[in-house]
Amino acid sequence: MIRITDILDKAGEYLSPADLEMIQKAYVFSATVHKGQVRLSGEPYLTHPMEVAGILSDMNLDVATIVTGLLHDTVEDTLTTLDQIEKAFGKDVSFLVDGLTKISQIEFGDREEEQAENFRKMILAMSSDIRILLIKLADRIHNMRTLEFQKPEKQQFIARETLELYAPLANRLGINWMKVELEDLSFRYLYSEEYHELSKRVVKGKKRREKYTEEVKNIIRKEMLNYGLKCKVDGRAKHFYSIFTKMEEQRIDFDEIYDLTAFRIILSSNNDKKCYEVLSVVHSLWKPVPGRFKDYIGMPKANNYQSLHTTVIGPYGERVEIQIRTRAMHEWAEKGIAAHWKYKEGELSQEGEEEQIKRVRDLLEVQQELKDPREFMKNLRLTLFPDEVYVFTPQGDVKSFPKGATPIDFAYSIHSDVGNQCIGAKINRSIVPLKYKLQNGDTVDIITQSGHHPSKDWLKNVVTSRAIARIKNWIKTEERKRSITLGRDILEREFKKYNLKFKQIIKSDEIKKVCEIYSINTIDDLLAVIGYGKISAKHIVHRFLPEEERKLIDVVPEKVEKKARRPSSAGVSITGIDDVMVRFAKCCDPLPGDSIVGYISRGRGITVHTANCPMTQEVDSERLIDVRWDTREKQIYPVHIRVLCSDKKGLLAEVSSVISSKNINIRHAEIDTTPEKSAILDFEIEVNDLKHFNELVSELKKLKSVLSVERMRGLFFKPIKKRIHEKSV
Ligand code: MN
Repeated sequence: MIRITDILDKAGEYLSPADLEMIQKAYVFSATVHKGQVRLSGEPYLTHPMEVAGILSDMNLDVATIVTGLLHDTVEDTLTTLDQIEKAFGKDVSFLVDGLTKISQIEFGDREEEQAENFRKMILAMSSDIRILLIKLADRIHNMRTLEFQKPEKQQFIARETLELYAPLANRLGINWMKVELEDLSFRYLYSEEYHELSKRVVKGKKRREKYTEEVKNIIRKEMLNYGLKCKVDGRAKHFYSIFTKMEEQRIDFDEIYDLTAFRIILSSNNDKKCYEVLSVVHSLWKPVPGRFKDYIGMPKANNYQSLHTTVIGPYGERVEIQIRTRAMHEWAEKGIAAHWKYKEGELSQEGEEEQIKRVRDLLEVQQELKDPREFMKNLRLTLFPDEVYVFTPQGDVKSFPKGATPIDFAYSIHSDVGNQCIGAKINRSIVPLKYKLQNGDTVDIITQSGHHPSKDWLKNVVTSRAIARIKNWIKTEERKRSITLGRDILEREFKKYNLKFKQIIKSDEIKKVCEIYSINTIDDLLAVIGYGKISAKHIVHRFLPEEERKLIDVVPEKVEKKARRPSSAGVSITGIDDVMVRFAKCCDPLPGDSIVGYISRGRGITVHTANCPMTQEVDSERLIDVRWDTREKQIYPVHIRVLCSDKKGLLAEVSSVISSKNINIRHAEIDTTPEKSAILDFEIEVNDLKHFNELVSELKKLKSVLSVERMRGLFFKPIKKRIHEKSV
């Protein structure tokens, strides 16, 4: 059983006397509050927090982490309050204890495997300080080591949670020894038959394997010495769970697994290049197995693991797996993030701060740019997934939301009806206002009432685009409904004034003609624009009066904006999107027939470019969307053309007449001569489509004096004078 002096001895190697005093104090505190509590093993409860603190001091973690290790279960399992902890040990420790208490309230339970990643993210998000996660992992290690005292169902439950949640988290942090231990312990309880069978077999061949391992190690050592490569050679049995997964994945029997031992060559120097030298020595010693070489130095794993991996045909024709790495790489592979989390009186390890932050950041997928990295290191606060919050549905599934999301966002994420009819929410069984900001780990239960409606105010309290769109859509629909009713009232009243029968007129063909005049599609649309006040009812009534009566009414000249028709916007359809503003790019003048692509511009709708337009190469490709020509309606499109001719009188007239013979309008023309006495004719013309344009080109090429015809990209279409000038400079 661990004693407090063991912890103090270990911590004393790198912490100050004041820190040790604090640890001593935490020990006394923990012993007092846990007094009388007993673990299932029969040992005093205190052994558990002490073992956890012991693991953390083995990892050379800071004083607050070790103190929290001693106190981690006090708020959860005793009458101790966070206030008491804060008073006695300060804010840093109480913050960590609080984090641990919150995580311990999450239960993975019998969840589907697909939910595991969400749970892992939730735990990461709740570990707003990386130390919380390290303490949680140490806690889990000790609980797994003592799992034998639990009831069988509990063993299964905890082992599964460990295998699916905590071992992957240890892996993500790069702490290999924790990952390996957690996996093997889980394996032992979840697949106990396989575990025992495997361990029996491993034990059986142990002597023979040890002899073999020594032999291979010696061959490698000798060869490295020959080449003057200083290194350490390790030969270790692979961990059970990895052997087991290998057997499962490759569907092979235990007897077919030769490489139970993995060899490792750890260079004394920290020179990455030497690893490749070692590799070539190994490969000249034994033949490599093709396809088994992996360069994790050039391409590190997601958790920053670096090494060279190779498999060779060993001295007995057997496969031998060899890993090659530098000392620094080895340190990282074993201790992961904790290797870079060593504190000596608040100081950090030798590695450059920037490099460290980069690793931590990459590793934990911190998305937000850190404003001041120094500040971040000083506080040791690492916000994981700072932009996301993870909550439970009443069924226990995890959903993620952007930070600041409210129950309304949650409601709309279920269904628009749930959103529209949402009147309140219960968070962890108590009622909260709709503007409540969701917190990690909340269980959210939406209260609805049929007939209830969203309000404009809700827009202030939502952050998801889905909720915003649904609310806006509802408001728009409501406003339209109101405008139609209002428009109908106004129009009916106006008709009555002149003794016209509204009910008949509204169904007549005449009113449809009026709609056409205003480019309005339906009667409802007409009523709506009257309701909005865009068209006055008088103007409509006016059209239904006999000539003589019309004169009597004083109608102000119509200033009706025709329904905005952008001639440039028609002609293109965008899959899945309607009612969006479309413009054609001026840089490439797309014509129907050209292959095209849409670019989503900020706040200005979609700009259509030709697919080969150089502009599209330079923009964010995520903003490009598929668009298609929709040429049911004939349109004209501008395009630029350059005709090069031998200089001759009457040339312009000749070319222009060909253009107009194809029914093509010339918007603009420029003419110039080159020093070689040929003429350059630049036109901006209007064509129907690519076919139309190509017809013109072949027609122009038939002219004797025409040397070449070229389609110009608008943006690069510059006045000729200027262009020539540029050339001569
Ligand atoms: Mn615990």
